[in-house]
Amino acid sequence: MSETMQFQAESKRLLELMIHSIYTHKEIFLRELISNASDALDKIYFLSLEDDSVSIDRTKLSVLVSIDKENRTLTISDNGIGMTKDELRDNLGTIAKSGSLAFKQALAKASDEIDIIGQFGVGFYSAFMVSQHVTVITRSVKEEQAYRFESSGSDGFTIEEGQKDEVGTIIICKIKENSDDENYDEFLESYRIKGLVKQYSDYIRYPIQMLKEADVEDDEEAEKSDIKFELETLNSMTPLWRKSKADISDEDYNKFYKDKFHDWEDPAKVIHMQAEGNLSYQALLFIPSKTPFNFYSNEFEKGLQLYSKGVFIMDKAKELLGDHFRFVRGLVDSPDFSLNISREILQHDRQLKAIASRLEKKIKSELLSMLKLDREAYEKFWKNFGMQIKYGIYQDFGTHRELLEDLVLFTSSRDKKLISLEEYVARMPEDQKEIYFVAGDNIEKCEALPQSELVREKGYEILYLVDDIDEFVIQIMHMYKEKPFKSINQGDLNLLNEDEKSEVLKKSEESKDLFASIKEALGDTVEDVRISTRLKSHPVCLVSSEGLSFEMEKVLSQMPDANEKMKAKRILEINPEHPLLQTLRRVHSTQPEKIHDIAWLLYDQACLMEGLPIEDPMGFSKKLAQLMIDAF
Ligand code: ADP
Ligand code: MG
Repeated sequence: MSETMQFQAESKRLLELMIHSIYTHKEIFLRELISNASDALDKIYFLSLEDDSVSIDRTKLSVLVSIDKENRTLTISDNGIGMTKDELRDNLGTIAKSGSLAFKQALAKASDEIDIIGQFGVGFYSAFMVSQHVTVITRSVKEEQAYRFESSGSDGFTIEEGQKDEVGTIIICKIKENSDDENYDEFLESYRIKGLVKQYSDYIRYPIQMLKEADVEDDEEAEKSDIKFELETLNSMTPLWRKSKADISDEDYNKFYKDKFHDWEDPAKVIHMQAEGNLSYQALLFIPSKTPFNFYSNEFEKGLQLYSKGVFIMDKAKELLGDHFRFVRGLVDSPDFSLNISREILQHDRQLKAIASRLEKKIKSELLSMLKLDREAYEKFWKNFGMQIKYGIYQDFGTHRELLEDLVLFTSSRDKKLISLEEYVARMPEDQKEIYFVAGDNIEKCEALPQSELVREKGYEILYLVDDIDEFVIQIMHMYKEKPFKSINQGDLNLLNEDEKSEVLKKSEESKDLFASIKEALGDTVEDVRISTRLKSHPVCLVSSEGLSFEMEKVLSQMPDANEKMKAKRILEINPEHPLLQTLRRVHSTQPEKIHDIAWLLYDQACLMEGLPIEDPMGFSKKLAQLMIDAF
């Protein structure tokens, strides 16, 4: 009895796209079907390790490709895990699977569907680019009964009971007839199929086999010999990472990466490690050249593939990569990993920890050499993954600070270009003791801050921190190469020499009463009112005492459990060189009653420059109006 079913709506659309596709590399369907077969082989392989009742000969796992020219069929069979009836319906009737899903998402965004077919590969449905009809006969390791799936495309599919003696799956593609502008016959030519396997599926670790053709002219002769039934393995199987580096071209690495990790851009960096000795392993790591679309979401899973002597053990072993390097893709192969290692054991595996630490050092050194030798590439990397590195420094109470600090870039006040801390320190004038920074919404705002003027004039560079996390990162780092970080709007900047200092002290003494009155007017809103040693052309500014800064206050105030304690302590500073100070002193001695309003005007002004909200905008406006009335 056969059941006719409809494809899920989205699957149907994708299918129609495949059927009518004018994509020029239709041959990728073969890669897709073989990769599914190889996945199915992986699955039964692991099951057989875990479950004693599944007894298979692991050495016999393979994919068989065969051609029947007369019936126009190309058949791909595997002795993998197979599918139950439900799986058959769910897996082939619905888009829910990785490859096709990513395709669907990209399709929604892209303007050119042709291109993304090649970029993603679209799984099982790609068979319909070249087939007028597809039959799947499969028997699951979980069921005695085999099933048969048939579909001629978007009209739907049928599932009925089928005949199959062994566990596994057979996919029969009835190849389309040639049309005026399309040639499908090529997919019935064995040389073409062989070429495609080599091109796309060479690293599949199971043999992909085909019947060796009898090249014996005489049929009778052929019948007598066994040659006719000999199987030929088409793929080389030797995993790339086990080959000698000298035998691998950039092209090989790039192709391997793109095939295996479903990217369509070459990686930004390839790291191939082959270690012998008491810790023996091979690692092939890649740094992608763009940020994966889900990288900054919970969906993204970090981790490296685990192999033992070329045999796949596990996908995404997360113990091999710290969060700070979670963008790295790749694999590690070591004879010391046991095949049936479990995720629980992995967490405590000492070998694995030792390897992870080697990988970490290597990734860092490769990134550093990229920073030194290929600035452009590094800045691109930084744009993609810098945020992750910064989080990495902040995470775990700064545990990874030393590892990561050399990799960080910030924008410098000097040329508004990115610089590393090492570069900053190397450029520090001799008399500069601290690394100056200031946080702000963007570079322009940092630049415009009154506090930055004098520092820059002294010839010191300032790091402009424009990401929310930046200041937290700096706080955790505390110093770099023994140079402490110093916010230009916190604490004392030590910009003055002895003479200048005593001059300021004098002015401060002269204005003591004035400052006391201002402080009294502002009450607890400010911690102190004092003379400034950091201002040049602006009359006042707001600084915070060491500890929480204004930018951190802004970030924290957006958190749901923000409270009063998360406020920076405010200090109002007044520029001794500014003519306003003289005016204030005059007002203080002649019309002391006016100091209250003036104090608030000064304070509110300083808040505005700092990008902080003023507490009483109405009051501010009233006072300002009154001031104008008095003035004119
Ligand atoms: P993906 O491989 O990205 O999951 P596909 O469209 O290629 O998407 O395949 C859909 C699903 O169908 C697979 O995830 C797998 O569960 C199942 N499948 C396809 N081919 C086979 C096969 N040869 N043996 C077992 N299951 C298969
Ligand atoms: Mg697939």
